[in-house]
Amino acid sequence: MSTEMREAMVVGNDIVVVWGDGHESYFPGEELRRACTCAGCKGEQHLFGRATLPTLKPLGAGAFVPAEVARVGNYGLQVRWADGHDYGIYHLDALRAACPCDACAATRKGQA
Ligand SMILES: [Zn+2]
Ligand SMILES: [Zn+2]
Repeated sequence: MSTEMREAMVVGNDIVVVWGDGHESYFPGEELRRACTCAGCKGEQHLFGRATLPTLKPLGAGAFVPAEVARVGNYGLQVRWADGHDYGIYHLDALRAACPCDACAATRKGQA
């Protein structure tokens, strides 16, 4: 399972990550924004984890719409949201581990 990011792009309200092994992950913008771990949002420590913290601040229009994505070193992905928020950096290993596709979900279930 590769956690090397070949490419990342915004497609509609999703953020698509293409991994070094060719696998593609489609992350819904809303879930990623809710998982923002920056000091301002204090989102979930684990992406899509079960023990979710409530979002402290109500998020306005545009908060769940990704505007731009950028690579951070070789470990992270930074997302700029349509409301201007861009403090959160998502670690690639956490993103790959949280890939919402059916195949990865089934694999995770098998390991649980
Ligand atoms: Zn944030
Ligand atoms: Zn997957």
